[in-house]
Amino acid sequence: MNAQQLFLESGNPSGVYYCSECRSVYRTFDLANECCVCQTCKTGKREKCRTTCEACSSIQNMESQKRFEELEKFALDKAEVAEDWEYVWYNDHMYSDIDELCEDCDGNPPEYVFSMKPVPFRSFTVDAVLDQYNEEFGFACEDFEIRDIVTGLKELKEAFDIFNTTNKDKILYYEEDRKHKVSTQNSWLEPEVDLKKTN
Ligand SMILES: [Zn+2]
Ligand SMILES: [Zn+2]
Repeated sequence: MNAQQLFLESGNPSGVYYCSECRSVYRTFDLANECCVCQTCKTGKREKCRTTCEACSSIQNMESQKRFEELEKFALDKAEVAEDWEYVWYNDHMYSDIDELCEDCDGNPPEYVFSMKPVPFRSFTVDAVLDQYNEEFGFACEDFEIRDIVTGLKELKEAFDIFNTTNKDKILYYEEDRKHKVSTQNSWLEPEVDLKKTN
């Protein structure tokens, strides 16, 4: 912003410049002059640890928020209405009750929200366990292969099969399903619609 030249003790110019804002030293006047200046508008004072000034930062934040909302809207428009759902995902929250979501939005929810899908249990495999074992000891002994050392692999596999079958219907967790959406309108508007009917 305000580049200043450094002078030698003799009073001669050093040809080296510094930024009078933060006192960083530069080889050229231009570099020193650009030091604390916003890289976007070239006039504002750069915020600490950022490349832009406060005004440009807030414009950028608004733009990325807008872009995010556009992408969300695009994905929601494309998504099909979920026929069956247990949970929906909105604003980093998981809801099982649309009314609760509407209350959190002060009665002004988006028209649609994404539903959530269960992530099912994934089978444990003997091979994965053995490979992990090889990896763990492979560094100490070249060509280490646990399969060549132990016995009872057939029985171990049978035990794993029983375990996997017993747990096959378990759900690990739920994740956002960006292919399916749920309307927030029905549940929330129902009383109002009924009221109109009776009037
Ligand atoms: Zn500076
Ligand atoms: Zn700026």
